[in-house]
Amino acid sequence: MSTIHIPLSQSTVQVSIIDTTLDANLPTAPFMGPPIAGFDRFQLIDYAFLITHKDPTTGRERRIMFDLGSPKDPDKDFPPTTNKVIKSFGGYVKIDKNVSEILTEHGVELGSIEAVVWSHAHFDHVGRPSLFPYSTSLLVGPGVKRSYFPGYPVNAASPILSREFSNRDVQELDFNASDLEIGSLKAIDYFKDGSFYLLSAPGHAVGHINALARTTEDSFIYLAGDSFHHASELRPHGGVGASLSDSLSLKLPSLSCPCSGSRFHLIHPLNERSRIPEHYRGYYDQVPNDPDRVPFHTLSETESGETMAVDLRAARGTVEAIQRFDSDPRVFVIAAHDTSLRGVLEYFPKTANEWRENGWKEEGYWLFLKEFGKAVEVAEETQ
Ligand SMILES: [Zn+2]
Repeated sequence: MSTIHIPLSQSTVQVSIIDTTLDANLPTAPFMGPPIAGFDRFQLIDYAFLITHKDPTTGRERRIMFDLGSPKDPDKDFPPTTNKVIKSFGGYVKIDKNVSEILTEHGVELGSIEAVVWSHAHFDHVGRPSLFPYSTSLLVGPGVKRSYFPGYPVNAASPILSREFSNRDVQELDFNASDLEIGSLKAIDYFKDGSFYLLSAPGHAVGHINALARTTEDSFIYLAGDSFHHASELRPHGGVGASLSDSLSLKLPSLSCPCSGSRFHLIHPLNERSRIPEHYRGYYDQVPNDPDRVPFHTLSETESGETMAVDLRAARGTVEAIQRFDSDPRVFVIAAHDTSLRGVLEYFPKTANEWRENGWKEEGYWLFLKEFGKAVEVAEETQ
């Protein structure tokens, strides 16, 4: 059994997963590669997380939000540069509600949220902190203030509006001030009792962070933010239970299935190494030559070296760290946009703490393969 060292504690938090109502259709190329024919675009939803901590002695509750999804009116709520980036993706990005509305609809007073934590300062995570009272602090990762503040329009290049955080306590997390490391990631024990850790998860964006929430004494939910956008960038990785084995049997309506895991080898880059684009060779030279132990995608890069990540090497290192958490049966990994988990997860106002008894990890682990139905067909036709 592969486990990582997580400090012992009996303190837990309540985790509620909020479907922030984003519905987007985006091209895969900017996010993941090498390209797999027949999988050119993908659907994204967007999770935010309400974390509630209850003091066992006093019963006092403290609440924080990890991410806020996207504001619902991009034309009004973003600087022109951000809207240009969104439009450049083609497809569509739709948002029905601000997270603040979803919280109040279910009786959570915004004044009870002591802090909003941004996994990173991209449009689909920052939400609208200005809709929260000034008593709610904003916590951001290292370097975010330097890179983006004071925001648009003072800083014309900033992707966020200054109105969203002006007159508010904004704190930048300092991971160097903490000696704690969990699974090789620098960690901050937020409530100081082992119930909720903020983790430095660099690479995707400036100051990108993840979190680890203790849902029972020995079970955890790992909040992966945008460290990966599709589970095919994480799996398979050869950790325990993570091999794309023949015992896997998926029902895919688009193929004549149940399908064994090995049927998907056909679309794996390692199935035909000669077809891997030159600029990805550096990555594939370093990984085992085994489609059961290497994810279908890695983080995208272009021939000219362009990448969505601010630090591609660090971002890939973060994915490797998450693979170690993913190999640990006590840990359930959820990335902000893992659409394949829809239908497995139960959303706010329900809580996610019973994920282990409910079997969510096993049920959702390989569901991303369902999105490869067309890709397998294309590969079988061209064989
Ligand atoms: Zn995102």
